[in-house]
Amino acid sequence: MNNRCAVGGTVSPRTPRRIATLSVHTSPLHQPGTGDAGGMNVYIVEVSKRLAEAGVEVEIFTRTTSSDLPRSVELAPGVLVRHVNAGPFEGLAKEDLPAQLCAFTHGVLRAEASRPPGHYDLLHSHYWLSGQVGWLAKQRWGVPLVHTAHTLAKVKNLQLAAGDRAEPRSRVIGEEQVVAESDRLVANTPTEARELIDLYQASLDRVSVVEPGVDLDRFQPLPRVAASAGKLAARKRLGLPERGRIVTFVGRIQPLKAPDVLIQALAELCARDRDLAADTTLVIVGGPSGSGLDRPTALIELAASLGLRDRVRFLPPQSGDDLVAVYRAADVVAVPSHNESFGLVALEAQATGTPVVAAAVGGLVTAVRDEVSGVLVDGHVPGDWARVFDRLLRAPHRLTELAHGAVEHARAFSWARTASGLLDVYREAMEENRARLLLRDHADLAGAATW
Ligand code: UDP
Repeated sequence: MNNRCAVGGTVSPRTPRRIATLSVHTSPLHQPGTGDAGGMNVYIVEVSKRLAEAGVEVEIFTRTTSSDLPRSVELAPGVLVRHVNAGPFEGLAKEDLPAQLCAFTHGVLRAEASRPPGHYDLLHSHYWLSGQVGWLAKQRWGVPLVHTAHTLAKVKNLQLAAGDRAEPRSRVIGEEQVVAESDRLVANTPTEARELIDLYQASLDRVSVVEPGVDLDRFQPLPRVAASAGKLAARKRLGLPERGRIVTFVGRIQPLKAPDVLIQALAELCARDRDLAADTTLVIVGGPSGSGLDRPTALIELAASLGLRDRVRFLPPQSGDDLVAVYRAADVVAVPSHNESFGLVALEAQATGTPVVAAAVGGLVTAVRDEVSGVLVDGHVPGDWARVFDRLLRAPHRLTELAHGAVEHARAFSWARTASGLLDVYREAMEENRARLLLRDHADLAGAATW
């Protein structure tokens, strides 16, 4: 038997041997933190690796976005990224992709047709565009469709940032269709599960909560005795001020993520205590994304207009050890998003031993334990954020306490746990699908006998 499940340590005939993962609009090979690449990309990479380690082969279908991409790339042993041609390679925005779903679906179906029958046991689609492709593929292949939304238009539209574009009705309809057609819906948190049920009429028995994880081997705290030296080394590595306090934002730069609130909060901090503000640097890490692409210099202009140009530092998207250094260099990592399905940045920072100040929205309420691993802030009034920074940055002991709490809290999340949770969902979906197909065959036979 080749479908051994190492995650749970058990062998089950219903564990998938091979799954097709759909990620239409963004590739797991893209650098997260800019454009359309973010937490979903990290999620797919990490989960796929853990599933492959557990004996489940993963093939990830994504759109070809450059003429020099090979047809397939091995991301890790057992994980293959397959490029599907759908529309011009370059110059298509995410908003243009609904018109390419037919071409993408055609590419996925053609790829499967060249394999032996029954090649994939299950489809897992990420984001509604992929869900639309999965909807058709599941009918053709007779396999279950598991869907993860990552963000939901109705939720986003309820919490729009000033100047942000509302998600169109066509997306809402597309999401409703995917919710109705999926065999299982994976929610990152109980809050998201509720949103799927209340706003999208998902049936309770088809929604499963599986929390995302964090790479605990990569994002590690330094031992207490080495913490100060580690912080200094991280700051040197990144060319950041070696002295003073640092508050850091990490992520795709767009109004939804609200980095502007942090610049305004720094201005408020200046008004409260000029010395503390003069000793504090706000570091913004990431690249423009979504409606942030309309005005990529907006934050620089805001900082300049508030007289803070020398207090705000911008760094391009970071990866590998540089990203770990970003978290280590900070006294506090701030996640002021208007909405967040989960908030991987918050977990990564905490795992590294840096407390997080986050907006009390969406998944951040799960990702951060208020006054234990960080502080949750209601709303986005800059004065409220300034008050929290003022309180924390003046109290190194409190920051140390929160740093301990942060490491403890993050330790509960791992990608192995996420993969194990997903495998449970996959097994349930496959079992139900098998029963459904048996019933259908039975009904067909009974019908033939009547004739
Ligand atoms: N990220 C990165 N480099 C950057 C900025 C962000 O690798 O410069 C990664 C970050 O480590 C995290 C992901 O992008 O894993 C962002 O995920 P999150 O859930 O915080 O936000 P999302 O992008 O899903 O909205």
